[in-house]
Amino acid sequence: MRHRIAVVGGGPAGLTFARVLHRHDHPVTILERDPAPDARPPGGTLDLHQGLGQLALDKAGLTAEFEALSRPEGQAMRILDTAGTVLRDWRPHPDERANPEIDRGHLRDLLLGPLDVQWGRGVTQVVPGTREGARVHFADGRQETFDLVIGADGAWSRVRPAVSPVTPHYTGITVVETSLDDVDTRHPGLARLIGDGSVAVYGVNRTLVAQRNSGGHVKVYARFRAPLDWHENLDLADAEAVRSRLLVLFDGWAAPVLDLLRHGTAFVHRPLYVLPVNHTWTHVPRVTLLGDAAHLMPPLGVGANLAMLEGAELAETIAAGPADLDKAVRAFEEQMWVRAGRWAKITAAGLERLVSPDPAEAVAHFDQVQPS
Ligand SMILES: Cc1cc2nc3c(=O)[nH]c(=O)nc-3n(C[C@H](O)[C@H](O)[C@H](O)COP(=O)(O)OP(=O)(O)OC[C@H]3O[C@@H](n4cnc5c(N)ncnc54)[C@H](O)[C@@H]3O)c2cc1C
Repeated sequence: MRHRIAVVGGGPAGLTFARVLHRHDHPVTILERDPAPDARPPGGTLDLHQGLGQLALDKAGLTAEFEALSRPEGQAMRILDTAGTVLRDWRPHPDERANPEIDRGHLRDLLLGPLDVQWGRGVTQVVPGTREGARVHFADGRQETFDLVIGADGAWSRVRPAVSPVTPHYTGITVVETSLDDVDTRHPGLARLIGDGSVAVYGVNRTLVAQRNSGGHVKVYARFRAPLDWHENLDLADAEAVRSRLLVLFDGWAAPVLDLLRHGTAFVHRPLYVLPVNHTWTHVPRVTLLGDAAHLMPPLGVGANLAMLEGAELAETIAAGPADLDKAVRAFEEQMWVRAGRWAKITAAGLERLVSPDPAEAVAHFDQVQPS
């Protein structure tokens, strides 16, 4: 029997889920709020780990395509102190494939492939307990019913309230993101500083990270501890004003490092929110969650990986045609919670060390997690 399955959200979780179901010839309805795939900038590069994101792509039959698109050299990582002294300069071996980088836009297009996404279908609410199935309410007032609704709609999930009252809380650490274009021709000095991968500079309660994407595009992340209203008297839409405030916050850092901010174009504020470590819920028939909707955690290189693997695993579970779908989803949730809980603990501790009163903690963290 073919169940009517809907996934809300066309991010890494939702698209991987749908792509694996598609590989097994199982129909799925994909509901995405964005009006088109390129409706907003796709965001920075993602590193996909062996055993997590790469395993998910393998389950989707997309390993060869990923190898063609990904950048193993992007695993390179350089650490500086605020005076600009290089403390670590790690370069991957040519065969190193533990965490190659891929642009989010490339990953999205790879997963989209033959999928038929319903764009511009923002979901406002899911009501699980109706006799015909779980009822999905849309922003345009329409409603549809499915046997199973998967909430893969990210941090501020509109599906989550159907299973859990919990909402994300602020970590006390915020990020202002900016970017550089054509870095190799326009800013060759910065291009050398960043290298093929990333450069991170750790100061007291502040961090600057610059990450190379493909095509000479670089994303720069200024992370610092601050109350949520730190920008009360600042117009976040005024790039000059934000740049000046950041230059004050990072005052005294080496000039080439501050050039990452001086040459940044637009600035985007992204306060870091998380769900509690070990977020679980009492199972609700016909509705479940994947990815950030289930376990939003600090952005330390694992959220998309987990989201994708969960999507692939749940799709395989459904495609196997379990006699009792609800029981199979419940078993999937238990497995997801254990793995996500472990990573939520690791990333919460990692964030505290990376944006720390003692920058030596950040370097020690790097030494622990980096392959040697
Ligand atoms: C700066 C930064 C860097 C990161 N780097 C990495 C990294 O290197 N590696 C890594 O693994 N992770 C990384 N992450 C984390 C990663 O981005 C997330 O964990 C991942 O995107 C989660 O995927 P998702 O599909 O669960 O949610 P999302 O990516 O948030 O996708 C949710 C989708 O649902 C749609 N949607 C939302 N609401 C609705 C609605 N009501 N109705 C319909 N559709 C809706 C959205 O438009 C979106 O398409 C990073 C995060 C940040 C912020």
